[in-house]
Amino acid sequence: MPENPFFTASTLPYSLPPFAEIRAEHYLPAFERGMAEQLAEVAAIAGDPEPPTFANTIGALERSGAVLGRVSAVFFNQASSDSTPEVREIQKEITPRLTEHSDAIHLDRALFERIKTLHAAKDTLPPAESWLLTRYHTDFVRAGAELSAADKERLVTLNGELSELATAFEQNLLADTNAAAIVVEDPAELDGVSVEAAAETARARGLDGKYVIPLVLPTGQPPLATLTNRALRERVHRASVGRGATVNAEIVVRMARLRAERARLLGYADHAEYVVADQTAPGTQAVADMLGKLVPPAVANAHREAEDLRAEAGFDIAPWDWAFYAEKVRQARYDLDTATMRPYFELDRVLRDGVFHAAGLLYGLTFTERPDLPGHHPDTRVFEVFEEDGTPLGLFLGDFYARESKRGGAWMNSLVKQSDLLGEKPVVVNNLNIVKPPPGEPTLMTFDEVNTMFHEFGHALHGLFSAVPFPRFSGTAVPRDFVEYPSQVNEMWAVWPEVLANYARHHETGEPMPQAMVDRMLEAERFNQGYATVEYLAATLLDWAWHTFTEDPADPVSFERGALADAGLDLPLVPPRYGSTYFAHIWAGGYSAGYYSYIWSEVLDADSVEWFKENGGLLRENGDHFRRELLSRGGSLDPMTAFRNFRGRDPRIEPLLERRGLL
Ligand SMILES: [Zn+2]
Repeated sequence: MPENPFFTASTLPYSLPPFAEIRAEHYLPAFERGMAEQLAEVAAIAGDPEPPTFANTIGALERSGAVLGRVSAVFFNQASSDSTPEVREIQKEITPRLTEHSDAIHLDRALFERIKTLHAAKDTLPPAESWLLTRYHTDFVRAGAELSAADKERLVTLNGELSELATAFEQNLLADTNAAAIVVEDPAELDGVSVEAAAETARARGLDGKYVIPLVLPTGQPPLATLTNRALRERVHRASVGRGATVNAEIVVRMARLRAERARLLGYADHAEYVVADQTAPGTQAVADMLGKLVPPAVANAHREAEDLRAEAGFDIAPWDWAFYAEKVRQARYDLDTATMRPYFELDRVLRDGVFHAAGLLYGLTFTERPDLPGHHPDTRVFEVFEEDGTPLGLFLGDFYARESKRGGAWMNSLVKQSDLLGEKPVVVNNLNIVKPPPGEPTLMTFDEVNTMFHEFGHALHGLFSAVPFPRFSGTAVPRDFVEYPSQVNEMWAVWPEVLANYARHHETGEPMPQAMVDRMLEAERFNQGYATVEYLAATLLDWAWHTFTEDPADPVSFERGALADAGLDLPLVPPRYGSTYFAHIWAGGYSAGYYSYIWSEVLDADSVEWFKENGGLLRENGDHFRRELLSRGGSLDPMTAFRNFRGRDPRIEPLLERRGLL
């Protein structure tokens, strides 16, 4: 019987995991061996009779856990992008054990003593090592290393329960989202969406002869913009906002309470204070101030937009009418509709002639598809990435299509982390959720999806350009409220004239998108920004409320309503981008008290876009400057120092306000 493929290092190029050999039954034994090996390594470090040095303690910790690192990267990538009942079972079993494993390391008294000794003398070390040491010290303190034995025990219990609840939340949500898909009997009701696609989705679910509209993760469902049947729109909207209500309500209340208790145990007022202490934001007050500044102008914009939509509809619109009449106003005002634009956004062209093309002009990169290297799913495409001079840089995997086994949204994963210490080059994955067309038909995207592809590739570049000594700081290992910044900057190239002209071509005729259409599309960018900003801010304030509460949130529905009202964001027509019971980012996705990060990062993003424009735009020297000062640094220096090195000064908020029409 062949050996478990996780037990030995991959022999494939760039240490790409050997997906062809990996089967679900390999995961548990690999996790078990990986944890046991790392605990033995840690015990050897902690019990080393030699006095602590950077190399025998921090360096050794950075090298530890090789098997665990390999299996975790592959497993969690599959758990989010191609989950099966078997994988879900393993996830349920392994997640709390991994939490326990991490606690065992962080709460190891002897190990922490060594780190503390080194930390006291950190100024004698070279800057990169001193920074890493400080990171370790902070990690350990934040994980409870300085607590009493009794408090440590309570902490381990809290962490264990929280990780079980997070997995339950995520799995309930996936099941509930699939179950809440709208089943339609009469195709006449489907006017405005593809009957063929709805029939195909129904067939894939064993509902032959019926029609199914699947739900995407956010509150706003794409078919609402075009479905002419108002009753069906209402059904879609209600199904969307009702997700998780029965299965996740108790979980979110329990998680909020446990997180608050954990924060207090660690010496913080609440979970938000605990989270923000380790971010680039100077404190919770700074975050609250920033959000408070954005709410009134955003709400005023949304009210103005609602007036326009009421005028268009001729009646008092409901939440399920907003997107539909917004689309009508948009068409009337800009003469644009999604259906006529999509033929200009064919996936392969967008990828090669847009995303890759921009990376070529800015950074000199070239891409060669490697069909000989299998990815984690048959739809995954693998590309080898080269520098301008032909030096190999890493691998980029693109998994672009939606499927029932994939969670909603779009994200980037790292399969192999770059580091000098371990001599690894990066392997990164982008996951999107574009509906797969019937066989033989081209994949035509919306402009939103195009933008998402550029966004996720910005994360990929952050991983691919990583040039750091230690794995702990590789690529996107930066604070949560900084990590969206490089990816948001990359969105600017989606609409950069030279790039857009290169990829926005009709998939049949090859004709470029007519200039008038381009102009109108760019003009329309600011359209509906009041709605977009309010739905985002409402979700952000919800996240904030769950993690700063002073009165126990016993009933999530009234808690949610009260939180939005307190923030001045209780607009019935503009529901939060995610409701509490399907807000995966904050309960299962690592964004708890961190959803503000997107707008926080957007300040840096908008200011950086200004820098590119001031300096001539799409030029190699500009790309190289951004790469050198920012993208290549990962977490290896203070992120705001990296920003200042790139920008030449502190960030300014005005470009963001201008972009969102909030000035
Ligand atoms: Zn992102």
